[in-house]
Amino acid sequence: EQLSNMIAAGEVVERPSGIIKELVENSIDAKATQISISAEQGGILSLSVVDNGTGMDAQDALLAFERHATSKIKESNDLWNIHTMGFRGEALPSIASVSHVRLRTNDGKEGTEVEIKYGKLDHASPIGTPRGTSIEVKNLFQKTPARFKHLKTPQYEFSLISDVVQKFALSHPEIAFTLHHDGKLTFRSSGSGSLREVIMQIYGREVAKSAISLQGKDQDYTIAGYAVQPQYNRATKYYMLLFINGRMVRSYRLQKAVADAYAPYLPKDRYPITVVNVSMDAQLVDVNVHPSKWEIRLSKEKQLERLLFDTVKQALETQIS
Ligand code: ADP
Ligand code: MG
Repeated sequence: EQLSNMIAAGEVVERPSGIIKELVENSIDAKATQISISAEQGGILSLSVVDNGTGMDAQDALLAFERHATSKIKESNDLWNIHTMGFRGEALPSIASVSHVRLRTNDGKEGTEVEIKYGKLDHASPIGTPRGTSIEVKNLFQKTPARFKHLKTPQYEFSLISDVVQKFALSHPEIAFTLHHDGKLTFRSSGSGSLREVIMQIYGREVAKSAISLQGKDQDYTIAGYAVQPQYNRATKYYMLLFINGRMVRSYRLQKAVADAYAPYLPKDRYPITVVNVSMDAQLVDVNVHPSKWEIRLSKEKQLERLLFDTVKQALETQIS
C-alpha cells in the first residue's frame, strides 16, 4: 500500500509544480472561486494551496488520503464520462507519501485538521478554519533522496509553478488566482471571467489588445478563445495553449492544426500565441491515458483538427486584410 503510493508519486508528483497542479485541480473540482497558491524557495521548502470551495467533513478529510478514495467516480463506467479534473484518487495519498501534508478543511458544518507525515497519520482533530480547504506541503522528498536530487534550483522550480498557475488562470478566467513566492505576490487574476483580461495580465496590454476572438462550432465541438495577431509570434510552441473541457492538454496534432492556420502569416519556425478552449461531450474524450492527465485520446480527432484549422484561419483572414 505504502509502496504503491510511492510508485504513483513518481508519476504524479515529480516536482512542486506537479503537486500544485493536482491541488489546484482539486480546488477547481470543489467549485472554488478563489484559489491562493504560495511557494517558498520554488516550493522545495514548502507550498500551499488555499481555496474557498466546498470543503470536506471530517470523515472525507481522512478518506482523501486513502488510495483510490476518489469521491468523483461512482462506478467504473464513469471513467469514460469524466467532468471533473481529478478522478484517479491518487494525488493526495501520493503527495502525502513523500512529504508532510497538513490539510485544513471546513465544509460549512465542521472544521478538521489532518496531518500526514510520509504516509503516516500524525493527527486528525477538529479545528476552527474558514470554509474551504487549505493544504500545505513541506519537507518534500526528504525521505526519498533519489527524487530530491532531481529538483532543480528554486528559481527554476518556481518558473514551472508560475507557468502552471498562469495556465489555470487562462483556462478559468472566472476563478480569482493569486500566486506568492517567498512572501511576494507574483501573479493575480481577478476572476472577472474575462479571458482577454487574463491574457493582458500574462502577456501584456499590446498582445491582449491584438487578440482576435475565436468562435467555432460543429455538431460535436465548440471552440472559443483568442488568437493573438501574428506579429506577436514566439519561437516556441509553448504559447499555444489548448484546453479541452477546461483541462489543459498537449496534443501534437491539434496544436499543429492551429500552427498550420497561422502558417501563411508567420515566418518558418515561429509559433503563435493562442488560447483555445474546446468543449465537447465528455464521452468523446478519454483523459485516462496517463496519470499526469496531460495526454488525451479523442474519438473524432480528425474532425476537431479540421474545425480548429478552419476557425483560426477564418479569424485571421477576416482580421488581417
Ligand atoms: P481525485 O481528485 O482524483 O478524486 P485526489 O487524491 O486528488 O483524488 O483527492 C481525493 C479526494 O479528496 C477528492 O476526490 C475529494 O473528494 C477530496 N478533496 C481533495 N482536495 C479537495 C479540496 N480542495 N476541496 C474539497 N475536497 C477535496
Ligand atoms: Mg485530484
